[in-house]
Amino acid sequence: MKSKVAIVQCNSYETNEVSQAVSRGLELIGGAGNFVKAGEKIVLKVNLLVGEVPEKCVNTHPEVFRAVAKEFASFGAIMSYGDSPGFGTPLAAARKSGIADVAEELKIELADFKDGREVFYEEGVQNKKFFIANGILDTDGVISLPKLKTHALERFTGSIKNQFGCVVGMRKGEFHVKLPDPTDFASMLVDLNNYVKPRLYIMDGIVAMEGNGPRGGTARAMNVLLFSTDPVALDATASRLINLNPIFVPTTLKGAESGAGTFLEEEIEIAGDTLKDFICKDFNVERSPVKAVKKSRVISFLNNHLVAKPVIIPEKCTQCGTCVQSCPVEGKAINWQEGDHTKVPVYDYSKCIRCYCCQEMCPEGAIILKIPTIVKVGKRF
Ligand code: SF4
Ligand code: SF4
Repeated sequence: MKSKVAIVQCNSYETNEVSQAVSRGLELIGGAGNFVKAGEKIVLKVNLLVGEVPEKCVNTHPEVFRAVAKEFASFGAIMSYGDSPGFGTPLAAARKSGIADVAEELKIELADFKDGREVFYEEGVQNKKFFIANGILDTDGVISLPKLKTHALERFTGSIKNQFGCVVGMRKGEFHVKLPDPTDFASMLVDLNNYVKPRLYIMDGIVAMEGNGPRGGTARAMNVLLFSTDPVALDATASRLINLNPIFVPTTLKGAESGAGTFLEEEIEIAGDTLKDFICKDFNVERSPVKAVKKSRVISFLNNHLVAKPVIIPEKCTQCGTCVQSCPVEGKAINWQEGDHTKVPVYDYSKCIRCYCCQEMCPEGAIILKIPTIVKVGKRF
């Protein structure tokens, strides 16, 4: 049987338009009542990477959250929501994103994403132990609401990667240190997604983020919402929309290998609107395969010469220190120059594992990735 992905056009975040588009998408995928029962506790796992206003397109838009929450609440589900942001508290991020206001209006509680418990996942291929938020563990079901955005490490952040925020706080950084290679990291994300097993994925691609994502990129209208129970098929479809080969997205490849779904076009049934009408050929995303990052002295030397390195654009830097705080490496691979907080931080590339947490969290988009000259030359041949 084919995996179904519903594509629904939605041209703005106007409340009624989003509400109608969400209703239509849910109908196309089997109806909201197919995913929840009255009295069940359902958590909406939004993307709240960090506290940013909706216009920045960093997080799931509050109007998408509103429309989805209302649909499932109308079937008697007891709704909550949450995410563990990369920086700051879940409540602070929810407030700035506009989601907390909508949630208060709808009387939906913020689930506990500040604390959690260790779980063992026997089927995990890369990882069998996770420290998961209580807000996820204490519910009957999860509905995942990813945002369509570029991502330095994994090319783009979609349905599978959205579950990374189920891991509490700084414990997320530990995975970057343990698994610096993007494919290994993706494999862990797939294990995590398969453990959390959301019932449904609804991607906010109305206005996506291209370029220096997932925080510092630019908004790009894509005018779509995507719905599926198959996260691999949904992510593969989203990749096709942004003209990115799905097999260059490690979470998609590893997700398919794990049996979580399919990325093959012939195994995906598109419902609703037509995929080709929404393809954005010049979407600004890195289209080359990811480079392996391995730990060893020889390979670490190669990392410095083959793998894109983060660099700071000094004119954009406000010396806020977020990059220094975000670096998960012991002793920090980016730090203040002689402890001076008035100067632009500097990198120690010999320590840098290329996790790009600094780039991901920089609020000014002041950190970009520089592709080594040798790779640029190689691309020409
Ligand atoms: S996070 Fe960005 S703006 Fe803040 S200090 Fe680092 S480079 Fe500068
Ligand atoms: S400097 Fe940036 S890319 Fe390098 S390890 Fe630290 S956070 Fe990761």
